[in-house]
Amino acid sequence: MLPSYDTDEASQRVIQRITPYEVFAYSTLLHEALHVQGLINERLTECAANDAVRWAARFYGLHQTQANWLSRIAFDQSTRNTADHVPQPLRSV
Ligand SMILES: [Zn+2]
Repeated sequence: MLPSYDTDEASQRVIQRITPYEVFAYSTLLHEALHVQGLINERLTECAANDAVRWAARFYGLHQTQANWLSRIAFDQSTRNTADHVPQPLRSV
């Protein structure tokens, strides 16, 4: 059963507990799921996964503004984790 957030306040409480690392972990899970579905281009898969965070958040009942915010965090974390910590030949974005 999916959670539902009846009020802005309830969904805001959920948002405040989510860390950027959790958003990154979720986008990584979505990234790998997209590979399983047949997407093989790393950059497109990463982009689609980060955008999918928005749609997953909406699916779980968060408001559009909050879902957009989570997706922006996913894009930001993706950039940080690929550009700063992964050697050049392994970078996907
Ligand atoms: Zn990949």
